[in-house]
Amino acid sequence: MALEGAGVGAGDEVIVPAVSWVASASAVLGVNAVPILVDIDPRTGCLDPAAVERALTPRCRAVTVVHLGSAVADLTALLKLCQRHGIPLIEDCAQAHGARFANRHVGTFGIAGTFSMQHSKLLTSGEGGAVITDDGDLARRLAHLRADGRSFGDEPPGPDQMELQETAELMGSNYCLSEFHAAILLAQLEKLEAENTTRRDNAARLDALLRELGCEPQATSPGTTARAYYTYVLGLPAPALARAPVERIAEALSAELGLTCKPMYASLNHCRLYRPETRRRFALSEAFQEAVRPRRFELPAAEAFARSHIALPHRLLLADASAMADVQRAMDKVLSHVGRL
Ligand SMILES: *Cc1c(COP(=O)(O)O)cnc(C)c1O
Repeated sequence: MALEGAGVGAGDEVIVPAVSWVASASAVLGVNAVPILVDIDPRTGCLDPAAVERALTPRCRAVTVVHLGSAVADLTALLKLCQRHGIPLIEDCAQAHGARFANRHVGTFGIAGTFSMQHSKLLTSGEGGAVITDDGDLARRLAHLRADGRSFGDEPPGPDQMELQETAELMGSNYCLSEFHAAILLAQLEKLEAENTTRRDNAARLDALLRELGCEPQATSPGTTARAYYTYVLGLPAPALARAPVERIAEALSAELGLTCKPMYASLNHCRLYRPETRRRFALSEAFQEAVRPRRFELPAAEAFARSHIALPHRLLLADASAMADVQRAMDKVLSHVGRL
């Protein structure tokens, strides 16, 4: 929705960070544009501004950035770069509800911020999503795109009249969030700040405990003033990774904790779910098919990140503070026996 609202369309290029959920790339394909997979900063796992600079061509019409796990991307550098090239920045905040940069909520820096309220997220109604913007024209286009070319009128509707009026400024589709889902989200929104604080405090405890074992918690960009922990992303010690692959370590830790800890997302050029060639609708031309072929991208930092990081679920961080010591003990046990995994 944000991409199309921003005017991105057929054949345009869109920068996509190489470490993310498949939707970051497939959403670009969804507007017939070309996802340009770009490498990440090895400390944060988020889009590397220098790599964006190298990937820009005159065909690029948007940069999308993901605030990944518990990190906020380098918004200072990305905004500067986008302004210099006159390209809109769209923030994917599906993993960052309530995170702040320079004391301002993420999602308010780019021309639009997108949020998922799917069941795994920090704010959830099972499924659902939202786009935010402070640009009136973009908001109006988004309203039409999400409601089959209709938007809310200025006057309240009369009896038996729809709130949505057929203004027909722009053809849309139906992406409306239901009132039931919105009600659930409004109730949860009241608890978000307190839960984010609890998760942040426990994450700080976990950082210290796991560093003692040689692990390296995910960093965030300078300028971050409040993290939001969708996942607790952790770099594993190199000596352990030399003896067992990240998948085995994640599996053993999951068994110890009784919670699913996953290896970090595979880099999008090797992601099992990212397969444009399986959809006839993308067989637009041979040139398009080659342009969107995931394996054509070289993403060494993203691949290394995937091989060395695991993601712990956010509900772990709502436990009592004392439970963080249990996580340290579990990780210690796994790392001490890594040769036998
Ligand atoms: C969950 C997620 C999405 C997709 O959200 P849906 O609501 O499932 O469409 C997109 N981007 C990121 C980074 C996500 O984590």
